[in-house]
Amino acid sequence: MEQKLQELKQRLQEIYDLDHIGMLLGWDQSTYMPPGGAAARGRQMAMLAQMSQEKIIDPAVGKLLDDLQKYAESLPYDSDDASLIRVTRRDYERATKVPPEFVARLSAHQAASYQAWTQARPADDFAKVRPHLEKTLELSREFANYFPGYAHIADPLIDMADYGMKAASVRALFAQLRENLVPIVQAITSQPAADDACLKQTFPEEGQIAFSCQVVKRLGFDYERGRDDKTHHPFTTSFSVNDVRITTRVQENDLGDCLFSMIHEAGHAMYEQGVNPAYEGTPLASGTSAGVHESQSRTWENLVGRSRGFWEYFYPDLQKTFPHLKNVSLETFYRAINKVQRSLIRTDADEVTYNLHVMLRFDFELQMLEGTLAVKDLPAAWHERFEADFGLRAPDDKDGCLQDVHWFGGIVGGMFQGYTLGNLLGAQFYAAALEAHPEIPAEMKQGKFDRLHTWLKENIYTHGRKYTAPELVKRVTGSEIAIQPYIAYLRAKYDELYKI
Ligand code: ZN
Repeated sequence: MEQKLQELKQRLQEIYDLDHIGMLLGWDQSTYMPPGGAAARGRQMAMLAQMSQEKIIDPAVGKLLDDLQKYAESLPYDSDDASLIRVTRRDYERATKVPPEFVARLSAHQAASYQAWTQARPADDFAKVRPHLEKTLELSREFANYFPGYAHIADPLIDMADYGMKAASVRALFAQLRENLVPIVQAITSQPAADDACLKQTFPEEGQIAFSCQVVKRLGFDYERGRDDKTHHPFTTSFSVNDVRITTRVQENDLGDCLFSMIHEAGHAMYEQGVNPAYEGTPLASGTSAGVHESQSRTWENLVGRSRGFWEYFYPDLQKTFPHLKNVSLETFYRAINKVQRSLIRTDADEVTYNLHVMLRFDFELQMLEGTLAVKDLPAAWHERFEADFGLRAPDDKDGCLQDVHWFGGIVGGMFQGYTLGNLLGAQFYAAALEAHPEIPAEMKQGKFDRLHTWLKENIYTHGRKYTAPELVKRVTGSEIAIQPYIAYLRAKYDELYKI
């Protein structure tokens, strides 16, 4: 058995290495690669994706998994070996349903589509990416149809990001959330908006990056096993448990953008850096789902980074970095960073209205996949729905349906629900952490974040993909994924600010 297990691990390591070389190419594409590199890069990434796919679907892997099945069943469910065999089987069965030729076709198309989007968005040129998106939708449907037997065509795509969730279960959760959220949004936005002029002065790039680095370092992002670089659309990627990269962008006239997006990405990165090092080179060595991943970025960005206690500690340092904040009180600053308003851009949205942006995209994904919304009608449908949900209309498509990279560099389906699941799970996990350690908020005021970081590491990070998201939330909080902790968090925080 030991020999078969070693052979499986050897094969998995080769797959892991191919995948992570591909991620390195993707990181470079989004940071330093000149535009001229696009065609070759697309071809190279497609080749790696195909090689990796061929290795995972090798019948020898299936044979090894069959041979190891009895051994896995003899072990406790949560043992490392049993978990490795279980997760590998899930990946194997999923991969064997998709032909390698399709994977290569999809990857090549995604690279071309992404490149077109980077030009189309600033030019507000939907027509330029429309054929790419039509092709993406076609490929997304083709992908879903490799998994027959679904209740909704989006189910196999949702499964890829948030294993165990379905279009129907997400819809039900979102409907419940909307019902509770809309009255909060209305109560807040019917009052005068917070004044955030203090964030809209000129803040030199150098100072913003230096301060943000100092913050994420203090929170626990390990620069010995990671780094940060600039990009258009911030993301986190990893090449190993010991090399996890974050990216950021800076707007000199907006203090919040770089800082909070960097805390957000550091939250993703601390999860990846916190995975049990023994899992390196195996499918267990990454976050377990999009929703759980997002719960970690949101925890650090919002529950911690937008809390009063956090700024009681960091605000004097920020004022030192940017002396023009000297006459801005902590209270004014705290209100500014927690300004709630109906706005056009998802990534700039506050933590209260954010989920409305996600729900709109989730519904459009389902409609496009169902065939009830044609790509050509997306821009108009976007403006109409946005006006209904937000009472606002984007002046163009740049800040409408072109704003997010997801459909233009990825697939249509399963791309957005993870953000809102993350908001829900983040609040749920954080409530469990506070129950275990009520001293966490008081320690934050003194700049101590290791209690929370350690709790997250021990309860969530270290397990990697050992538990599915539904298993993990049950294990850590004792209940199913629920909206109540998130709504309770919003009510407590915003009632203090706005008397809602
Ligand atoms: Zn994120």
